[in-house]
Amino acid sequence: MNPVELLVAKPAGHGERIEPAGVFFCSKCRRVWPNEHDAGQCCLCSYCGKELPKGENYHHYECMMSAYRKRHEAQLASARVVTDHEGFVFCEQGGPNDGYAQDIDEMAEWWQDEIDSGDRGRDEYPEFVLACMVRPPRQVDADDLVEMLAEEGYEDMHDDVVVPDSLKDALKEFNDANKNLVTYEPDYKRKVKMPELVRSSC
Ligand SMILES: [Zn+2]
Ligand SMILES: [Zn+2]
Repeated sequence: MNPVELLVAKPAGHGERIEPAGVFFCSKCRRVWPNEHDAGQCCLCSYCGKELPKGENYHHYECMMSAYRKRHEAQLASARVVTDHEGFVFCEQGGPNDGYAQDIDEMAEWWQDEIDSGDRGRDEYPEFVLACMVRPPRQVDADDLVEMLAEEGYEDMHDDVVVPDSLKDALKEFNDANKNLVTYEPDYKRKVKMPELVRSSC
């Protein structure tokens, strides 16, 4: 903030000439920036534009979180409602496993308990949660290993790598044995309606 241009002294005749250096410093923290605009933005929150406390860079943590929440709310609002979703769901505001639940029933139960125990208010109960999509584990094949081996070798080394059939069989077995290791990711295009709260909070 309050950018100040640096000056340089250049020898001229018997004395020296003072010239603008074309770089600017922030008058608060004195960091140097390549242009006036960047120096002017220094020490200001990139979200709210207000001055940052000493030692903080780029933005207030709260401003970043609130922007993140708003983005999430907008995504949730534009998601399509699905009624046939089975399996994992995700809720940004919380869920049994870091926001994830095995299904909508487990999610609803967790929220019900939170509200009954007084940890959350009834007004926090989410109307919708996101459906999750399933990402299967990556299939490892012989080409991956050939690439890995030849990557830093001589040119066209991959043409010379020998892949025994037993390795192909072993890799198939390996992939089959691990195919259940799926990862769940929130699908920002689909949401599931939460059931109505049943018990009243006490
Ligand atoms: Zn600064
Ligand atoms: Zn801010």
